Amino acid sequence: MRIVFLGPPGAGKGTQARELARAWGVPHLATGDMLRSAAAAGTPLGLEAKRYMDEGALVPDEVIIGLMRERLGAPDAAKGFIVDGFPRTIAQAEALDKVLVETGQALGAVVFFDVSEAELLRRLTGRRVCRRCQATYHLVSAPPAKAGVCDKCGGELYQRVDDGEETVRNRLGVYGRQTAPLLDYYREQGLLRTVRGEGPIDGIRRAIREAAGDAR
Ligand code: ADP
Ligand code: ADP
Ligand code: ZN
Repeated sequence: MRIVFLGPPGAGKGTQARELARAWGVPHLATGDMLRSAAAAGTPLGLEAKRYMDEGALVPDEVIIGLMRERLGAPDAAKGFIVDGFPRTIAQAEALDKVLVETGQALGAVVFFDVSEAELLRRLTGRRVCRRCQATYHLVSAPPAKAGVCDKCGGELYQRVDDGEETVRNRLGVYGRQTAPLLDYYREQGLLRTVRGEGPIDGIRRAIREAAGDAR
């Protein structure tokens, strides 16, 4: 399983990737999670990245490509992976292709999550994230049993700075300009599989399994 999850912010990539990575026994490589933990740890890379993230802009390609090149080379990624939030530009997609050629690997599918803009706005502004385990909740569609507390680990839930309405609009614009061109890029490679990303989470999960060639 070498799968890329592609879609706008709030499409449900992280929610689905966390479950499916466990089911498939492969690592979930989420660039956003990696950058946020680097920022929380106060590393130079994390602090640089945070300036872009808080504005809703993309972190420079060189930074993210270096990070992913290293991560994809780690032993646990040799048997497969789900990449979530990468690539986000054509330059990143070309860099990913290059890394895969160098390591003799190939992508199995690129799953595109199709979700309307109105739904994305609702999802992002109501999203809450666990500080400890990064599990994702939603105030309305997926609330935790106890307000503000993670069901899975008891950690504290918080709202990401970049999930405020104004920054969300920036991020959706950035997605349209810089990331949406990847749809044609992967369509031309014959890898693109589109999944309707609205509706119950388990129904979407089944559609993704099918799109990824996992018929169970
Ligand atoms: P979402 O899940 O809402 O799409 P992410 O957690 O994937 O958001 O990303 C949060 C922020 O991290 C982005 O707005 C961007 O600043 C930065 N980021 C994450 N992945 C990348 C990437 N591949 N290239 C550039 N910036 C990235
Ligand atoms: P992404 O990683 O693509 O940015 P997330 O997985 O973080 O997206 O999901 C964004 C928000 O939408 C979260 O609050 C999550 O709980 C909620 N969400 C995810 N999938 C669905 C769904 N199928 N229906 C309604 N809300 C959802
Ligand atoms: Zn948690």
